[in-house]
Amino acid sequence: MKPSPVKHVLRVLALILALLAAAACGKSGSPPVKGPQPEDLPVYHVATGFQLPQSRTWERARKRGHLVVGVKEDQPYMGEKDPATGTYSGFDIEIAKMMSASLGFDPKTIEFKTIASANRETALQNGQIDYYVGTYTINDNRKKQVGFAGPYFMAGQSLLVRKDEKDIKGPEDLAGKKVCSAAGSTPYQRLQKEYPKAVLVAYDTYSVCVDNLLTYQVDAVSTDDSILLGYAAKVPEELKVVGKPFSKEPYGIGVPRSDNALRFALDDALAEHEKNGDWKKAYEATLGLSGEPAPTPPPIDRYPAS
Ligand code: GLU
Repeated sequence: MKPSPVKHVLRVLALILALLAAAACGKSGSPPVKGPQPEDLPVYHVATGFQLPQSRTWERARKRGHLVVGVKEDQPYMGEKDPATGTYSGFDIEIAKMMSASLGFDPKTIEFKTIASANRETALQNGQIDYYVGTYTINDNRKKQVGFAGPYFMAGQSLLVRKDEKDIKGPEDLAGKKVCSAAGSTPYQRLQKEYPKAVLVAYDTYSVCVDNLLTYQVDAVSTDDSILLGYAAKVPEELKVVGKPFSKEPYGIGVPRSDNALRFALDDALAEHEKNGDWKKAYEATLGLSGEPAPTPPPIDRYPAS
């Protein structure tokens, strides 16, 4: 049901005020509200004398002097860019930093590039980035185009609705409802295939979907729980995540498909950081802020070179 025009205007004003408060906070040099606190983050040991000449990607980075890593910039607790400082934070950002340290590059030197869901494969294929860490589900279709180290986390598709929503409790309630997701994402594809009665709306990013939800343009946003919990935590008086996750989304680190040497080096690095406690500490300082305790990371796949 549409709200009254006055209520609608008040909601939009409240949202704008909340966003302005967050921006003002960022300007004074402090991190976004309730975001990861720098002092809680692990400091990763940078490998000295590390060499990986079999990897074309690593060699290119060595000549350049730093890594270029593809990420998201609008996913709170996972990959988020502070608009005032340009600093990226979140669990995916920490994974990117751990990997950099293990490959012998100081994480402070990483050049982060924001890449949307639909553009990840192309960015890896044409060498725009060295690797990608951004809620990237490993699946067979994508494996035809890129390689994946990991998985390093298991997410699941879920639903985000407005706090006053009563009808939508799970994906079976989506018939005739406007549901927003990102173009090129697995959640979008699953809705299209398994819930054909939902009215799908696609944008490049989930943050645009969330703006559409807050302004009553759509009824729900659907993607991984790890992403939706972050949006809900930003405006808990306006949004909620409903139902149980209805898919398995194993997150991998995307690499150029032919670079098996880099893929195996990243698998080794993940195993090392899971073992030495960095993974758990990084989780607790980032995604853990959404309230979920640290899970056991999924087993690393390390599938053979093809
Ligand atoms: N994990 C899903 C995917 O890789 C959804 C999140 C995203 O779009 O990054 O498609």
